[in-house]
Amino acid sequence: MIELINKLSDTRSLSTDEYEYLIKNRTDEAAALLKEYAVKARSKYYQNKVFVRGLIEVSNICKNDCYYCGIRKSNLNCDRYRLSKDEILECCKEGYNLGFRTFVLQGGEDGAFTDDYLCDLIESIKHNHPDCAVTLSLGERSRESYQKLYDSGADRYLLRHETADEVHYSKLHPSDLTLSNRINCLYDLKSIGFQVGCGFMVGSPYQTIKNIAQDLKFIEELQPDMCGVGPFIPHKDTVFANEKSGDADLCCYLLSIIRLIKPNILLPATTALGTVRNDGRERGILSGANVIMPNLSPLSVRKKYALYDGKISTGEESAQSLEKLKQSMHNIGYEVVVSRGDINKNNL
Ligand code: SAM
Repeated sequence: MIELINKLSDTRSLSTDEYEYLIKNRTDEAAALLKEYAVKARSKYYQNKVFVRGLIEVSNICKNDCYYCGIRKSNLNCDRYRLSKDEILECCKEGYNLGFRTFVLQGGEDGAFTDDYLCDLIESIKHNHPDCAVTLSLGERSRESYQKLYDSGADRYLLRHETADEVHYSKLHPSDLTLSNRINCLYDLKSIGFQVGCGFMVGSPYQTIKNIAQDLKFIEELQPDMCGVGPFIPHKDTVFANEKSGDADLCCYLLSIIRLIKPNILLPATTALGTVRNDGRERGILSGANVIMPNLSPLSVRKKYALYDGKISTGEESAQSLEKLKQSMHNIGYEVVVSRGDINKNNL
């Protein structure tokens, strides 16, 4: 086991079978060693800095029907909303004043988000805040569309691959959604020039250890700039309402491994991790993550953007959440910084 961890740390690469072995034989000692190496690898690029991104949940209207997701189109109990352009710009303004220098626009695949609409929105945000990065997380679109969004000034795109195994993918999604299209989108985004993020849920229904090993191998191959990995959490109005949540310790173990696969990667300690454990985000940072994405959405819509049950910080002002976060990061020896927080590409 120790040899395998040393090999990963030295070469940034293992075979799928080796990743599987690493996960199957997880012990507290292995987790501690991975964590130690991950923190060391990260500190070369980012010291003890934690980057924050202001998450704006722009719409919960979605044409897709992902079986795990609370805003899937067939959830008739979901109270649908879409923020107006003015509301989004207002969120950015508030965020800017709080010290955010990246805004993440996330939402369902809402037909109202045409290229023209989004390009105008991105240009307005960039006009108001030229020193900020805009990250989009709006699902699958054509290459032409991604190109237009990039040309309008968007910097980054988050599109979790969800699982790198076709069969597993088909158990989580209806047949109109395919892994091959998702992966093509990621490669399109990358070749256009976006900083790209993939990712997956830990403990999603039907996920095997081999599937997770495949996810790690996929991350190694794609070499994304960002990677969102958080526990699956059931939502009461989905096919998977009675499934159990993913394991926080396994999630942290995987964060350490991913940090070693790509030491300069931007790796969030997710809200889902903070939802399954009170100290989840702190543990995520201590395991190798370096990004946190506090919610900047208007309070009136936070509860409506319910991907899963029990989401944290739905009733808290943005300023209050950020203050608490800064304090909790300070308590574990980390510092939330005012920065765009781009990937550090220096060859260290
Ligand atoms: N529509 C865009 C997309 O498909 O990428 C962005 C929004 S989507 C809701 C964002 C992410 O939420 C998904 O990639 C998925 O991994 C995560 N998610 C959805 N349902 C979840 C659940 N029940 N538990 C944890 N994460 C979930």
